[in-house]
Amino acid sequence: MSVNSQLLRKIPKVDELLRHPSLSSLSCQHTVLTESVREVIDTLRQQILAGEEPCLEEESICEEVIRCVTKKTTMSLRPVINATGIVLHTNLGRAKLSDAAVKAIQSVAQDYNTLEYNLEKGSRGSRYAHVEKLISKLTGAEDAMVVNNNAAAVMLVLSTMAKGKEVVVSRGELVEIGGAFRVPEIMAQSGGTLVEVGTTNKTHPSDYVKAVSENTGAFLKVHTSNFKIMGFFEEVSLDEMVTLGHERNIPVIYDLGSGAMVRLEDYGILDEPNVLDAMKSGADVISFSGDKLMGGPQAGIIIGKREYIEAMKKNPLTRAFRIDKLTLAALEATLREYLDPAEVLQNNPTLRMITATMETLVPKGEKLFACMEKVRDDSFSVALTEDFGQVGGGSVPTQMIRSSVVAITPAYVSLDVLEKRLRELSLPIIARISKDRLLLDVRTIEEHHFDYVAESILKCCQK
Ligand SMILES: *Cc1c(COP(=O)(O)O)cnc(C)c1O
Repeated sequence: MSVNSQLLRKIPKVDELLRHPSLSSLSCQHTVLTESVREVIDTLRQQILAGEEPCLEEESICEEVIRCVTKKTTMSLRPVINATGIVLHTNLGRAKLSDAAVKAIQSVAQDYNTLEYNLEKGSRGSRYAHVEKLISKLTGAEDAMVVNNNAAAVMLVLSTMAKGKEVVVSRGELVEIGGAFRVPEIMAQSGGTLVEVGTTNKTHPSDYVKAVSENTGAFLKVHTSNFKIMGFFEEVSLDEMVTLGHERNIPVIYDLGSGAMVRLEDYGILDEPNVLDAMKSGADVISFSGDKLMGGPQAGIIIGKREYIEAMKKNPLTRAFRIDKLTLAALEATLREYLDPAEVLQNNPTLRMITATMETLVPKGEKLFACMEKVRDDSFSVALTEDFGQVGGGSVPTQMIRSSVVAITPAYVSLDVLEKRLRELSLPIIARISKDRLLLDVRTIEEHHFDYVAESILKCCQK
């Protein structure tokens, strides 16, 4: 008999393994357990056939099965600790919701609710009624509606206002926001015809004027959220565009992107347009995201003149883009907090983190540093320093925001190994490596996670 077949016969049987105390005591679905046992046995068989000699001890096989079960039973979509300092991290779910928004989601999710029911009349209501008035009140808009995200909002706006017509856009604003969201392609999908004017770096009011024809449906301005042209640059402001458009009876549409609803320049965040100023310009329709600088759930918010909003509600795309009840619950709760400017700065995690200054960040950094020092052995060294983070979410791309950072230098493992181990934790920690250190930016880490972060660093720095 060959070595191979002798080894193959030594692999424990499925039933034997299932009876092993460490597996029979597991509290998981039986199908998951048997599937895991089969997969582990199968891997061993493959290894033997490939000429390897894997360990065939029952104990070690059971440990592998438990790892396999854990992997299968862990939720794929789950929380992580964001130690990157990037507040609106698109890959990490963008905006964290306020406590009130989370509560609203929970209560609506667990019970029947008023999604499309009018309690006063005892009859069918509108799903948009829950937030329309709030949005109008906060922004001063005549009317409002909400859809699944801002990409859908832009599509709906163009499809309603510009189908079969020409839309004039500056070449400096034909941007790609991410994924397949590119202004020229969205325009094509919506049925509008793009009329490009100006150049990449300079567009003048006369460029818009010259492009007007009897078939012009709208002027579109797109906020170039995620990049910035510096130097020899000129654009036509929203105010100017509104004047030009209205003199000619042409509606002006503004894709604002981030949707800041407080004046962030008061907190050192410059150059980000804000919903209130955009509204004052007199633009006919403005759209923005719910989960960027507004700090709410993923949503696309459209505000503007009633005649256009009414038409959008009748567009068949509205059904395809419609917002779901959980989002709506979170959105209503988030917007309600905006009614009190002081309250929203306190309660909205995005605003709280973005507006945090060194006055609060340095003591926070000192606390994390102290937690590290408390648990530390000789497997790593730690320093308290400063670094620059970003707002993220494709907003204020050129502005770095100063923060307090704890820097880790592992003694026995490489930085790459440490970074990877932190990602493999049951509650993963996402950190970045810079200049031969692993950096933990306290701007985006909650204080109640500090002890966990410190213990995890200690664990992951071991040989
Ligand atoms: C982010 C952004 C979008 C897309 O918004 P989503 O909510 O991510 O769909 C569209 N336009 C601009 C200008 C943006 O910044």
